[in-house]
Amino acid sequence: MRDFDDHELVVFGRDVASGLRAVISVHSTARGPAAGGCRMWAYASTTEAVTDVLRLSRGMSYKNALADLPFGGGKAVIIADRRSGKSPELFEAYGRLVDSLGGRYITAEDVGTTIADMEHVARATTHVSGLAPKVGEAGGDPAPKTALGVLLGIKAAVRFRMGRADLEDLTVAVQGVGGVGYHLCRLLAAEGVRLRVADVRSAAVQRVRDELNATVVRAESVISEDVDVFAPCALGAILNSASIPHLRARIVAGAANNQLGEDADGLALTQAGVLYAPDYVINAGGIISVAREYFGGASDAQVTAEIHGIPARLTEIFERGRREMRPTNSIADQMARERIGAGARRKVA
Ligand code: NAD
Repeated sequence: MRDFDDHELVVFGRDVASGLRAVISVHSTARGPAAGGCRMWAYASTTEAVTDVLRLSRGMSYKNALADLPFGGGKAVIIADRRSGKSPELFEAYGRLVDSLGGRYITAEDVGTTIADMEHVARATTHVSGLAPKVGEAGGDPAPKTALGVLLGIKAAVRFRMGRADLEDLTVAVQGVGGVGYHLCRLLAAEGVRLRVADVRSAAVQRVRDELNATVVRAESVISEDVDVFAPCALGAILNSASIPHLRARIVAGAANNQLGEDADGLALTQAGVLYAPDYVINAGGIISVAREYFGGASDAQVTAEIHGIPARLTEIFERGRREMRPTNSIADQMARERIGAGARRKVA
């Protein structure tokens, strides 16, 4: 498969009694156990599910390396509809599958799964994070933490591209106002940003329209809105050869994983004069929280302080991109691969 990148392990899990069909992919454990969330999605085929989990798990290796976490990269997908396919037994069976890997993979929530689902997973394994937080400790739903990192990343991009320290009166289009997108909209509104939002679920957009005075735009055309920043917070591969020519924002900075259809789309963005904040750098707030929760003992304030490291990392990537005249995604990938390589060499030694 094109997306196979020397992944260490890919396992298929099946539990007939609960109906579980899952795939766990461990891309790399060079820097530590492979950590990454579990996505629940009604994939049209097994091939589609495997492609997604291969790409997402590699992305987690890169994300964890650049966030300086002692983790490798992994990810899981459960092939089922998130509305009709859930049961405590299914998540417990998934927990047994995770546990069978003996700590090589640490799971958490992702698109389609929640804290409540992870509580069921935790009945069968300790290799799970993103549970209800203990009093005084960091943890819980990673989405608001991811949103904070994205807000700080948007500020870094605006400062770099527009030379402005604030977001007052800028216009931002947010694609997808679910867990992360909704929290991002709240943070942006508090900074005086004018919001244009799109989602395929009408209840989700109505909420941000009513609460934050956001303008609702069509999901099919949100990418071509005439705004300062486009923030993709839905699904991946939305920046591709078909969509990039329609992009009018000069900054793309959002939470979605795997925003580029392919690596070459990063070059297309640069050539179109668009500053792209590499997805796995700007959206690391959630995994930072998940990691601190997993190791225990960290406070919410410590997690927030760590998330404030994201803008400096992005600015370094933006500056290197300008200096070396290279796309930001290629700079970030190179930095991540160097860190993973250093981890692998340490392991061998
Ligand atoms: P979510 O499922 O809560 O929200 C996604 C939203 O996007 C939903 O409201 C959905 O209806 C909407 N959507 C789906 N297709 C759409 C389309 N074509 N157009 C417009 N809206 C559409 O998921 P989330 O947790 O908010 O995550 C959003 C993205 O950010 C995902 O790509 C996820 O992998 C990534 N991410 C999330 C976290 C986290 O902490 N939750 C961390 C890092 C990255």
